[in-house]
Amino acid sequence: MKTFSIAIHGGAGTLVKGMMTPELEAQYKSALQSALNEGYKLLDDGKSAVEAVEEAVKLLENSHLFNAGKGSVFTATETHEMDASIMDGKTLNAGGVSLITGIKNPVSLARDVMEKSEHVFLAGDGAMQFAKELDYKLEDASYFYDEFRHKQWLDIKDTDGFQLDHATKKDSKFGTVGAVACDQDGNIAAATSTGGMTNKKWGRVGDSPMIGAGNYANNKTCAISCTGSGEFFIRGVVAYDVACLMEHKGMSVKDASSEVIHKRILEIGGDGGLIAVDTNGNIAMPFNTEGMYRGQKSSDGVDDVSIYG
Ligand code: ASP
Repeated sequence: MKTFSIAIHGGAGTLVKGMMTPELEAQYKSALQSALNEGYKLLDDGKSAVEAVEEAVKLLENSHLFNAGKGSVFTATETHEMDASIMDGKTLNAGGVSLITGIKNPVSLARDVMEKSEHVFLAGDGAMQFAKELDYKLEDASYFYDEFRHKQWLDIKDTDGFQLDHATKKDSKFGTVGAVACDQDGNIAAATSTGGMTNKKWGRVGDSPMIGAGNYANNKTCAISCTGSGEFFIRGVVAYDVACLMEHKGMSVKDASSEVIHKRILEIGGDGGLIAVDTNGNIAMPFNTEGMYRGQKSSDGVDDVSIYG
């Protein structure tokens, strides 16, 4: 049987060991392990890579620990605006949503855009109208309230600044979530979901919902989900860049991912990481920050979650 595998991330950044209590570290690891296990279980049952990445990302969105879904950061107007995307490497079908509010699982709305609309990317009021037509239930603001995230916002709300999730210094930690998977048929998929940046304004959209920037999948090469300084990941077209290095230079998923994260994105001033998988189930999880919440599980027996470098 072909190797099948899944990898997930919950954001990268300055994850200083000393600032993390053992209890919190255990909570992060347990949330990562549950998402990994559920996604893997679907693959083991013969389900598609698309099913597996949606399920894993949904579970991460349901945790208050990560900056996506329930744990999304606050915008400049004390609201939550979420972005998500998903791509199927077999068909190159893709769906993205941005600036959505009140939706418990933005990744599922992205999947509905992919499968139930003729479009790839819906934003703001239009995306909300689409959700309404599909009878999505809207959560009220209290569902997304988290004391820690509210404090992050209070600290910078009267400034022009914006901040990546739980930064210990400005721009130092990203809490976006994502999953990539290779199923038993060798099809791959990627999904990414985020609340964006604390105190963001003017309808700011990052790389996460943008196909090719923060998320990409193509059976010819690999499936990728990114986390990091979104503006740079957009300019570097990071996810597609990894796929291009594989397609045009014949690089492995590990070498291509490493080249982009340790060289090309650094050269233009970006930081963060990504997870990637190829159609043989090989996984790469490079990051150029001190840590990245991450996990991987494969039919070859790999099963681990980790945080630091
Ligand atoms: N890339 C995300 C954004 O810029 C942030 C993150 O990875 O946490 O919206």
